[in-house]
Amino acid sequence: MESIAFFDAKPYDRVWFSRLNKNFDIHYFENRLTQETVSLAQGCSAVIPFVNDDLNATVIQKLYDYGVKIIAMRCSGFNNIDRKAANGKLKIVRVPGYSPYAVAEHAIGMLLCLNRKIHKAYFRTRDFNFSLNGLTGFDLYGKTVGVIGTGKIGQIFIKICQGFGMNVIAYDPYPISNPDFKYSDLDTLFSNSDIISLHCPLTEQSHHIINSESIKKMKDNVFLINTSRGLLIESESLLEGLRSGKISAAALDVYEEETDFFFEDYSDKVKRDMVLSMLLSMPNVLITSHQAFLTTEALHNIAEVTLQNLSDFYSGKELINEVR
Ligand code: NAD
Repeated sequence: MESIAFFDAKPYDRVWFSRLNKNFDIHYFENRLTQETVSLAQGCSAVIPFVNDDLNATVIQKLYDYGVKIIAMRCSGFNNIDRKAANGKLKIVRVPGYSPYAVAEHAIGMLLCLNRKIHKAYFRTRDFNFSLNGLTGFDLYGKTVGVIGTGKIGQIFIKICQGFGMNVIAYDPYPISNPDFKYSDLDTLFSNSDIISLHCPLTEQSHHIINSESIKKMKDNVFLINTSRGLLIESESLLEGLRSGKISAAALDVYEEETDFFFEDYSDKVKRDMVLSMLLSMPNVLITSHQAFLTTEALHNIAEVTLQNLSDFYSGKELINEVR
C-alpha cells in the first residue's frame, strides 16, 4: 500500500478522505508543508497539500530526494508550487472544479450580508437592540456587477446575479462563446461597475490587479468582493480606498498575507498583521478565513477526485487533472 503524506489536515478534511480511501496508507499531519516540515514526507511516495502550503524549489527538491513522485493538490489553485522546480521530477495533479457553487454562493452571501448589515443586526437584536440606525443597504436589482474571470465560479456567480436582476459586465482574456452577458476591457469594467467580484486565478498578469491605479478608475462607492486569491488585491491600496470612502465596502474571503493566519485560531495571541487588523476594525469590511469552498459537497468532491487522481497515477492511467 502506497504511503501518502497529507499536510495541513483539519478534522473537516479527514471526514471524506477517511470514508472514501480504500487503497492508500494516508498519514495526516496538522502542519503546513514548508521547508521546516517537509521531512514528514519521508517514506511517502505522494503528498496531498492545500492552498497555503509552500511548495518552493527547496521543498520540491527534498520531496524528490525522499522519493515522492506526485503532488496531489486537494484544491484547484496551484500558485503555491514552483512548477519549474517540479518539472521532470514530480507530477502535479489538482481538483479543478470541486464545487464552483460553494464559492459563488459564498461570494453572494458576503455581498448580501455586508450590504444589508446582517452581521450587525444579528448582534444587535441578540442584545435586545432593535434600532435600524446605520443599517441602510442598497437594492441589488438594477445595479451593475463587474466580474473578473468567467470560468466555472465566475459563470455561476453571474447566473445568480442575473437572478437578482443585476446587469453584468465581465472581463476575461479567454472569453466564453455565446455569453448571455457583456464582455468589456478592464478599464470599462472598473468605471461602470457598482460591485466588482474577482473570480480569476492568481498569475503574473492578475497579481495586484486591484491596486491604487485601478481603484482610481472605479466608480465612487464601489463594493469589492474577493473570494479568489489574496494577492489579487494590493491591501494597502484597498485600505486607502476604504479610508477615503472611494470603496464603500469590501467582502474578503482571502487576504494577501493569509498564510500566516488563516485556518488557525490566534485569538489569544498578540502577534497581529497590522493591515489585516486595520481591515478587520472597519465596519464596512467583512472577512472570512478562506472558507468559500467549505461545503459538504465540495469536501466530498475534493476527496473523491484527489483519491482518483492518485489511483490513476499508480495504475499508469492518463492524468486528466494534471498541471503542466
Ligand atoms: P477557472 O479556471 O474555471 O476560471 C478562471 C477564469 O479566469 C478563466 O476563465 C480564465 O481565463 C480567467 N482568467 C485568467 N487570467 C485572468 C486575468 N488576468 N483576468 C481575468 N480573468 C482571468 O477557475 P474557477 O474554478 O472558476 O476558480 C477561480 C478562482 O477561484 C481560482 O483560481 C481560485 O483562486 C479561486 N478559488 C477560491 C476558493 C475559496 O475557497 N475561496 C475555492 C476555489 C477556488
